[in-house]
Parts: sequence; structure tokens; C-alpha cells
Amino acid sequence: MKITFLGTGTSQGIPIIGSDHPVCLSENQKDKRLRVSVLVEWDNYTYVIDCGPDFRQQMLNAKVSRIDGIIFTHEHADHTMGLDDIRPFFFRQGDIPLYAHERVFKALERRFDYIFTTGKKYPGVPSVTKTEIKNEPFIAGNLNVIPINGWHYKLQVFGYRFRDFAYLTDMKTIEEAEIDKLHNLEVLVVNALRKEPHMAHFNLEEALELIERVKPRQAYLTHISHHMGFHDEVQKELPENVFLAYDNLQITI
Ligand SMILES: [Zn+2]
Repeated sequence: MKITFLGTGTSQGIPIIGSDHPVCLSENQKDKRLRVSVLVEWDNYTYVIDCGPDFRQQMLNAKVSRIDGIIFTHEHADHTMGLDDIRPFFFRQGDIPLYAHERVFKALERRFDYIFTTGKKYPGVPSVTKTEIKNEPFIAGNLNVIPINGWHYKLQVFGYRFRDFAYLTDMKTIEEAEIDKLHNLEVLVVNALRKEPHMAHFNLEEALELIERVKPRQAYLTHISHHMGFHDEVQKELPENVFLAYDNLQITI
């Protein structure tokens, strides 16, 4: 299984427009972060988790020419607003399979009504198929994917486990029974916004606590704010099996 970090930034991305914060001005490519998303590839399957405003650029950066589907964690704009850019995939492949919670589909149908309409479409408008995810395993390609239910302040979000890889983003609390799904992982990706606490996201300390509990072989932190600091400095402070993810990083499991 190959994981490509398409974006590792929080909702505004890094740099933030107009910001003169030192991290936003950094020349280091590892300090430049598009909105959070990963590509998960195994056998001949290619799935994207989330489809934020940088989706087009991310597909170009990773040279993706075909996708088997997009799996959504939740409906916030930084995870969904690139949906119009499935058009090149739709033109080549036909309807694009989407996987999401019923509530997330309702939000997508409001924002992208022209994609979901069953009436006559303007030429060039893409079409999708919908698979509603509940908190039970579902099939993607030839795999059983296990949802991990968590909370982003008061909003329900899904993380996902694919074999020995799990991806959690925008989590602040996870119930015990859900944490039990995270044992024996090769790789855990988990959100860590910054060092200061935040109402809706794990900070660094909370992410490290979860990692310490479930003990994956390796862990990668994502959904990172410029307030976290410079990549190279923060990396030096982390335990030896924990890494700050960065855009375009690839790992093979
Ligand atoms: Zn987010």
C-alpha cells in the first residue's frame, strides 16, 4: 500500500494569504502545506480521502490520472470544496464514486446541487455515485475499510482504517470503542494542529497521547497550522517513530 500526502495543512493552508508569520515566509518546501488530503493506493486501486480546495493542484502534483473514488471524513470546506475538479476524471471514467456519511452528502448536495441533480445537466457537469457510510466496514476496491468515529468539537467525523494503515483528521475526541479499532497499526496518521490547545482539533500533546496509547509502528502528524512552527525544528522534538508529515511525502506500507 502506498500513501501520498497530498496536503498536510490546516484550513487556510500554509502560507496563509497575506501573512508575514515566519513559517508562512519559510523557503523550506516542507513548510508549504496545501489543504489536508491523502492518496491511498494498493493493488490497482486509487482512492483519495477528502477533496478540498487544492484538489486540482494535488492531482497534478501526484500525477493522478484515474481514481476509484473519494472518501470523505466530514463536510467542512477545507475537505470538500474541490469537488468540481473531478471533471477530468468524470470525462475519462464516467460517474465518480463518492463515499460519505449521509449528513455529508446532504451538505455536498446543497453546495454542488448541479452535480447531484437528477434533471438535465449543463454539458460538462460531472456525475457521481453515492455510497453512504455508517459506522461499519464498507468495501473499497478489494478491501474492507473500517470507519473510526470521532468528534470535531460537536461535529461527527470519520477516520478510516485500510489494513494496517489508519488516517484520522479533524479529531478532538474519540470514544474508547473506536480507539480499540486502532491497535496493531503499521502507520497511523493523526491530526495535530499546533502546540496550544484548540476546541476542535488535537494539539501536539493530545496527538502524541493517542499515539502512545495505540502504539503504531510509525505515526505521522497532519492538518498542521503555521503556529506549530518550522517543520525541521518541530521534527527534532518528536519521539523517534513520530514524524511531521509534509506535502508530497510518500510512504509504503
Ligand atoms: Zn479540516
